[in-house]
Amino acid sequence: MGNTKKIAICGAGIAGVATAYYLSRIMPKATIILIDKNQPLSFTSSQSGENFRDYWPHPCMEKLCSRSIDLMRLLQKTFDSTMNFSGYHFVSKHPNKAIFADDDTPEFGLRNRVETDQALIQELYPYLAPTIQKSIFIKNAGYVDSIVMANAMLQHAKSNNVKLVEAEVVNIHKTKTGIDLKLTNNGKITTDQLVIAAGPFMNHLTQMLGINLPVWNTLQRKIIIPDPKNIIPKNMPFTIFADRQYLNWSREERNFFKNDASLQWLLEEFPGAIHIKPESGGRIKMGWAFSTEVVEPQFTIPKSSYFPQVLLKGASRFIPALSTYAENLPTPLIEYGGYYTRTKENFPLIGPTSIDDVFVVGALAGFGTMAACAAGELCALHLAEKTLPDYAPYFHPSRNKNESIQKEIAALHTDGQL
Ligand SMILES: Cc1cc2nc3c(=O)[nH]c(=O)nc-3n(C[C@H](O)[C@H](O)[C@H](O)COP(=O)(O)OP(=O)(O)OC[C@H]3O[C@@H](n4cnc5c(N)ncnc54)[C@H](O)[C@@H]3O)c2cc1C
Repeated sequence: MGNTKKIAICGAGIAGVATAYYLSRIMPKATIILIDKNQPLSFTSSQSGENFRDYWPHPCMEKLCSRSIDLMRLLQKTFDSTMNFSGYHFVSKHPNKAIFADDDTPEFGLRNRVETDQALIQELYPYLAPTIQKSIFIKNAGYVDSIVMANAMLQHAKSNNVKLVEAEVVNIHKTKTGIDLKLTNNGKITTDQLVIAAGPFMNHLTQMLGINLPVWNTLQRKIIIPDPKNIIPKNMPFTIFADRQYLNWSREERNFFKNDASLQWLLEEFPGAIHIKPESGGRIKMGWAFSTEVVEPQFTIPKSSYFPQVLLKGASRFIPALSTYAENLPTPLIEYGGYYTRTKENFPLIGPTSIDDVFVVGALAGFGTMAACAAGELCALHLAEKTLPDYAPYFHPSRNKNESIQKEIAALHTDGQL
């Protein structure tokens, strides 16, 4: 059958769209159908902060994201989408703290900027707390207009005969000759191969075929607020506070939270990686993916309690002037969120499942925008049975059976989640 196969992709988020785009280029004779219950790119992919970086705890993630950044550069040339290399700035109060990887090697220093002179850090970044003693500026990083980029990939895929179908996949049945997809409104598609790119609903789809992948969802949020006191410089890079912390509540607040079981989490230690960047219109965007509660995904995102207050308290630790907003939240405040669909090690799942001709591309947690191009390309290479890049085994859905990969994962001290 070769390159003339029929391939259905379930899910037109950025992962499904990128897979359709690279498949249409690598297998131009294949019949490709992209199915989504809603408008393309309207779920998790529309909630992204759109940031990208090549700095990760494990080389496989660095390679995947570097490849993706290179592919995004190429797309930028072809489609006129915008990438801004404004960098990522990690800061810590601990001068000897390795944020993710060995950042004290000469090779790392050549690619990035590492600073541990406290006075110089204060001179360069006067908005930071004077207690900051380590600054790592990642150069191959910034933000991308991901919806423009993904839409360009989608339009290009459509002009290469990729067909878009708006329907929900409600059942999947593997037969001797193919895969039957049952759709809403009595629709049916029979396909040779299936790619599950359903974002947070990945396991809803795989379970229809009797498989359960080791992924789960946590709900993470961001806020955008005005910055009437101009605390955040307009040219400030995406800045991340790497240290864990307890929030600085007043004695009354502490007593209040202590006596309410549903609020005691506010007194616990919070992880590092709270992040801030300037946004258009004199506003600031902030996020902190601290939630570890495993949740069932829903298409309507539930409301939060105390998220903006927590965020501003946490941010005041490394940009002290923000404490004024923690006391008095500026309005209008926009809060939004979505699911981080993730694995224990925070590596995605890309490739064939244990069921013949069924593939997955997902578990892209908080890095799906930056990794989508390379993830879609890798998934397409699997389907086309082409030579795979050396990072492919790390993302293979059966990597938990690979002992040497499992040893490398066990040696990691952090999962790189922001
Ligand atoms: C608050 C937040 C901030 C983020 N910031 C960043 C960032 O700065 N940088 C970065 O790289 N990443 C970021 N991410 C991560 C990134 O947004 C996600 O990893 C990425 O969007 C996941 O894309 P996806 O295609 O896998 O999933 P989705 O975009 O969720 O797409 C899945 C699609 O599948 C469809 N679907 C599901 N079930 C069915 C079914 N049964 N039938 C038909 N269709 C179905 C859904 O309708 C949906 O359109 C962030 C995520 C969040 C939540």
